[in-house]
Amino acid sequence: MKGKLKPVCTNCYAFTNPESKVEIHVYLSPGLFQDFGEDEAINQLYNASLLPGVVSPVIGMPDIHTGFGLPIGGVMATDYETGVVSAGAVGMDINCGVRLLTTRIDAGEINEERISKILDAISSRVPSGVGKSSAVKALRKPDLDAVAQIGVEYFIRAGFGRKEDLERIEDRGCIPVGDAAAVPKAARERADQLATIGGGNHFIEIGRVAKVFDQETAARFGLFKGMVYVLIHTGSRGLGHQICTDYSRIMWEHSERNGTRAPVKGLACAPVFSEDGQNYLKAMACAANYAFCNRQLITHFVREAFVEVLKKPESELGLDLLYDVAHNIAKKEKHGGRWLLVHRKGATRALPAGHGDNPPCYRDTGHPAIIPGSMGTASYVLVGLPEIHRTFCSVNHGAGRVMSRKRAKNEFTREQLLEQTKNVVIAAGNLRALLDEAPLAYKDIDEVVFTLVDAGLTKPVVKLKPMGVLKG
Ligand code: 5GP
Ligand code: MN
Ligand code: MN
Repeated sequence: MKGKLKPVCTNCYAFTNPESKVEIHVYLSPGLFQDFGEDEAINQLYNASLLPGVVSPVIGMPDIHTGFGLPIGGVMATDYETGVVSAGAVGMDINCGVRLLTTRIDAGEINEERISKILDAISSRVPSGVGKSSAVKALRKPDLDAVAQIGVEYFIRAGFGRKEDLERIEDRGCIPVGDAAAVPKAARERADQLATIGGGNHFIEIGRVAKVFDQETAARFGLFKGMVYVLIHTGSRGLGHQICTDYSRIMWEHSERNGTRAPVKGLACAPVFSEDGQNYLKAMACAANYAFCNRQLITHFVREAFVEVLKKPESELGLDLLYDVAHNIAKKEKHGGRWLLVHRKGATRALPAGHGDNPPCYRDTGHPAIIPGSMGTASYVLVGLPEIHRTFCSVNHGAGRVMSRKRAKNEFTREQLLEQTKNVVIAAGNLRALLDEAPLAYKDIDEVVFTLVDAGLTKPVVKLKPMGVLKG
């Protein structure tokens, strides 16, 4: 499949599916293209281009690697009236996403010992690791109707955060169609994990702004060189996972009954306006709102931990929310005058300046898109440029893996992991369990980010460097 891709413009390779006439666009720098060995990921984009009502092009981001159904780093838009929705094309971790907190703390003020203390204070409030449930008993049995219908505001009213946080969350932390009644029972039973991080790839990171590319935008975002930030990456935990599993099966059965069979189970789908399609979107929104709440609750506990260790009031420390953005989600959006359902799986929305769907505070800059790299390298904040309409206003969601978890576990030793994460305080139960998270298991984040910068789609604002990380 890779052989079919031909360069069409800077850092973009393409071919057209002869059957559906839908184009497949993959954004890679020449270096990333040369190293790219994942034929299966391109095959998955090809399969996606065969689904009913798919709108050209189906896109692979520079962090593309093979996933379940659609690759990670994949964007697939379908016509909202006549197209389908696919649970697999959203992914297992519904509304996995990132949020960034800015602070008024200078990186020089916190040494390794303090970072370690802050991470400990966070981890005593926010459990990490696969399968962990909330540390706070009341959060283990949340009112799922309230989570689905009110979203983050429900917890802000209960004292978990500040009113002004709301504007800085995609969709104000509540996708309106959320409905717990559409969530299958097995999934509802897994909704006991609010305020938890989850497994290996999810994290809470403390770091500093290492480089400013765009002074003006950075200042508007409250990002200054040497300033401490907190980056939170997690999603909807077991709830989203179970919804994806259950609805993939429901959609597969739907397509067998109705003859709209998808090429593979991972892309099982149902028309947006079928009962199964609508129910999935209601359940997906419930899980998405749960994930927004999860990151909000974690933010509350992170603020508490900083106050406790640094012995300063929150108002002095800042810890203001810059933005919270999803990277596994399907959204109804208007592109080119047409309503679409944009599936972003391991892809981040990046609306350009002036776009009406930006929150008011970011209307004239474009909202921040937050791109994590790895626990030992760098992460970025960037904004979309007008050309971003070529990708339905989407960018990559990270560096993307260069090797499978299994291979990384065999390839790296504990010592190599420590070497790759020099100067980063690591708080994790078991370092061995983190070998698959070694920075060298991921692509080069600079190369990945500049693939889209050089293609004219995005503008980097700042580069972030980790100082400490709490991992699952
Ligand atoms: P995913 O959502 O696919 O699990 O991960 C998103 C991205 O996060 C990965 O592609 C990787 O680039 C990045 N990442 C994984 N672990 C860490 C970490 O500990 N710190 C930072 N800053 N980024 C990470
Ligand atoms: Mn993620
Ligand atoms: Mn996730």
